Amino acid sequence: MRAAVFEAKSGAAGRWLTVEDVPRPAVAPGQVLIKVAACGVCRTDLHIAEGDLPPLRPRLIPGHQIVGAVVEGAMDELAIGSRVGVSWIGGVDGDCWFCRHAMENLCDHPVFTGYTVDGGYAEYAAVRADFVYPLPTGLEAEHAAPLLCAGIIGFRSLRVAGVERGERVGLYGFGSSASLAIRVLQAWGCEVYVVTRGEQHRKAAENRGATWVGDEDARPPVELDRAVTFAPSGKVVVSALSHLRKGGVVAINAIHLDQMPAFDYDRLLWGERQLHSVANMTRADARDFLSIAAELGLRQTVTKFPLAEANRALEAVKHETADGSVVIAI
Ligand SMILES: [Zn+2]
Ligand SMILES: [Zn+2]
Repeated sequence: MRAAVFEAKSGAAGRWLTVEDVPRPAVAPGQVLIKVAACGVCRTDLHIAEGDLPPLRPRLIPGHQIVGAVVEGAMDELAIGSRVGVSWIGGVDGDCWFCRHAMENLCDHPVFTGYTVDGGYAEYAAVRADFVYPLPTGLEAEHAAPLLCAGIIGFRSLRVAGVERGERVGLYGFGSSASLAIRVLQAWGCEVYVVTRGEQHRKAAENRGATWVGDEDARPPVELDRAVTFAPSGKVVVSALSHLRKGGVVAINAIHLDQMPAFDYDRLLWGERQLHSVANMTRADARDFLSIAAELGLRQTVTKFPLAEANRALEAVKHETADGSVVIAI
């Protein structure tokens, strides 16, 4: 099969991946083989390619927002031909303290799709059957793909921030994840304040009906109940913290931050304000979000690249040049 392969040794900017023929993956017990139709490109893929996340294997097929059809290893609930999605969490051990306490997102021995195991920048992917989600019908593969990480983790961020209906919520950064989260917030009757750099992202936020939009140095006109930061920047986190009311929460939706600058505790955190990171996702987050997405008819704007141009797809994420989410169509 054709696949885009990342080699830990290589990785010159812009030439992170090589597209080559590799053996089609064998299906182990408990797995299904998926014929990939589309795979979303996430900032995490870029963090892997650029070495911000340490390499776990010498050769890796990245990609963890996989949409395709089951073609082998079918089970009762997943017949041959079932249209399914796969996300970042590709498995957990099921018996560590966190798994036993309904926090499988924090599992001590997680499997990450497209990081600890091969992912979906390929024609086929073998994945654990119990970490596969049947997809709502009527949603094309390329539109479904960005829902599977950007969408689910954006949704989890709203949960971690403790968003309640009708609240004032800040979104810092307006890429793939935020542009899906805003739809959920609007469905919950929230006012959404978007702080983001880049004219294109501010336009997108306005088009999506944000209550207020400002650039990275702007201050929302009201104190926020909750904020979610999407930019991989600690400065943005501190800025969001400075816009909160007492008792407000900032959820940090970033697997990697450049650094966390020092900040004034008395002014910014005192008053029971809270900072939370958002780590991975649970299967319940995935199922709940996909069902809300189907209800709301979420259709993400996407920019498509063929597998042969996987490096250009990563470039588009790196430089935020794409319209909407970046997807590799296989
Ligand atoms: Zn992701
Ligand atoms: Zn576990």
